[in-house]
Amino acid sequence: MQQELIKAEKLKAVEQMGAAISHEIRNPLTAASGFVQLLQDDYLSRQKRKEYLAIVKEELFSAERVIQDYLTFAKPALESLEELNVKSELRQIISILQPIANQNSVEIITDFSIIGFIKGDGQKFRQCFVNVLKNAIESMPHGGYLHVSTEYSQNDVTIKVKDTGVGMSPQQLERLGEPFYSTKGKNGTGLGMMVVYSIVRAMDGSIWVESDVGKGTTFHFQFPTIPIKGNKQTGRV
Ligand code: ADP
Ligand code: MG
Repeated sequence: MQQELIKAEKLKAVEQMGAAISHEIRNPLTAASGFVQLLQDDYLSRQKRKEYLAIVKEELFSAERVIQDYLTFAKPALESLEELNVKSELRQIISILQPIANQNSVEIITDFSIIGFIKGDGQKFRQCFVNVLKNAIESMPHGGYLHVSTEYSQNDVTIKVKDTGVGMSPQQLERLGEPFYSTKGKNGTGLGMMVVYSIVRAMDGSIWVESDVGKGTTFHFQFPTIPIKGNKQTGRV
């Protein structure tokens, strides 16, 4: 099944994200520091100490997850429009995620067109695709294949991300991108896809997704290309 996922009501929520995110980070940090205070008691039993330390650790992980999904590449208040070489950006992201892929026995297969330049903020682009690729890897806990490919045409660059993971039902697909929607319990934030939609929109791009439960998911991204000047067009790899 196929569906265009950019929807006005989902995007409205994105605008309220900033406040929600800092809230999501502050909550676990407040909890962690509360338990650190309790740990300062010299007469605490060994058992309680262990219990509190486990809570602190879990809360810190939770804050870290939010940061990872939302702010990995963020530099405060710096928005820059650059000419992005889609292939080299994707290569960089894949190298960051390779260790997680290895851990999950996921093989990453790439097929990139030689050229493909789009306009955007490099940090945001990386944040977007880290989330997409991380989700794809996480959808294959018992291993699988992750295909990342690009196609170039005169007007658009298409990026395809295909996994052989658990897939999504039509109902799940419908909720994709909703703030805090996650099927990963404590291990998820439900922020990753929010971030993806907002970034893709900011870059005048579009997203389509096809998914089959038990078979896998394919994301299609399309971004307007930058008209090529000089000799870039004939550049070879
Ligand atoms: P999180 O990864 O923290 O759960 P996301 O916003 O990144 O939050 O993703 C939301 C949900 O969308 C995930 O919990 C998962 O159910 C679903 N999802 C996203 N990408 C995929 C994928 N490639 N395969 C299967 N399900 C996916
Ligand atoms: Mg995610």
